[in-house]
Amino acid sequence: MKICKKCIMMDTRPRLQFDENGVCAACEWNEMKKEQIDWESRYKELQDLCAKIRGKQRYDCIVPVSGGKDSTYVADKMKNEFGLNVLTVTITPPLETQLIQENLKRFLDYGYDNIKITPNPKIAREINKFGFVEQGRPMLSWTSCLNSVMFRLAVDFKIPLIMFGEEGETEYGGLTEMRFVPYYDMDFAIKIYVEGNDPRSFVQKDYSEGEMSLWLFPSRQEIKEADFKVAHWSYYENWDPYVHYQFASKNYGMQIHQGRNTGTYTDFGQLDTPLYELHTYMMYLKFGFGRALQDACIDIRAGRLTREKAVDIVTKYDGEYPEENIPVFLDYYEMDKKEFDTVLDRHVNKDLFKKVDGIWRPTFTIA
Ligand SMILES: [Zn+2]
Repeated sequence: MKICKKCIMMDTRPRLQFDENGVCAACEWNEMKKEQIDWESRYKELQDLCAKIRGKQRYDCIVPVSGGKDSTYVADKMKNEFGLNVLTVTITPPLETQLIQENLKRFLDYGYDNIKITPNPKIAREINKFGFVEQGRPMLSWTSCLNSVMFRLAVDFKIPLIMFGEEGETEYGGLTEMRFVPYYDMDFAIKIYVEGNDPRSFVQKDYSEGEMSLWLFPSRQEIKEADFKVAHWSYYENWDPYVHYQFASKNYGMQIHQGRNTGTYTDFGQLDTPLYELHTYMMYLKFGFGRALQDACIDIRAGRLTREKAVDIVTKYDGEYPEENIPVFLDYYEMDKKEFDTVLDRHVNKDLFKKVDGIWRPTFTIA
């Protein structure tokens, strides 16, 4: 296993490339952001786009929001700094937490229109279970409808811009094709967010197109006629989740967990659903890195954490078994513990882990 010389991201991360000095693409991008990217001209590009679309329709821009730090930040920018009439859109997460509901309500109270969409929870559960069992992706339904829902609303409501948060491939390491491109299309969304799959293949039962419509993209013809743009905020400003957290906390009273989140040392990210714990635990079993390592790499690149300190923290917290919520997961997937463990066993990378007293332990060390 290769580990980046600057951060500690591993080459098991899908699509991540390393340069000849053993530095990963996310760290390379981090340097480019400081020296090569002309942020002013990118900001100007967005100003020009907003000037063109502002006030020409009911809603100028869709911002997908959860009530979390990043989407709060982006929605605020689009409304207050760029003066657009923003429609915020929330997709109800599976096992939605009380905390995120309160944060969303608190955020909306500052003056935002919001549509909250709950894709059929029965189908959603079926897709999430399929994702967990077959692909080791326990929130497959939620992650796979995030783009299709926004595209659908842009078409139906004739909204010319969708502004997502970060482009994860560029920011955290993966494909580099979006580094200099402001907009993306349906083909990119399908490639990255559903790994090229047709969501109809995620379900056993023969649901109609109508029943599956929130997971399906509009037709090419519809998208062409609607002529909207889909962008990421991270193209226009240096992306830093911690800065967004400070902003959301100060200006919108965003609340966080008491104590750190399971599997990491931070307490402010991904508060939407306990399934995120399982999602990152599966990531750990499949690739050898979990939530703590992911957070630590962001903090190393932002200069908040040394690589050495990060190694200590990650060794301590990464891959923490989500003990407390196991009964919640069993109930949601309608499984017993034995079936659940069989799924973990199926997806674990046996080159990186061995089972000790019923729990998978790493055979590698990070250095
Ligand atoms: Zn790196």
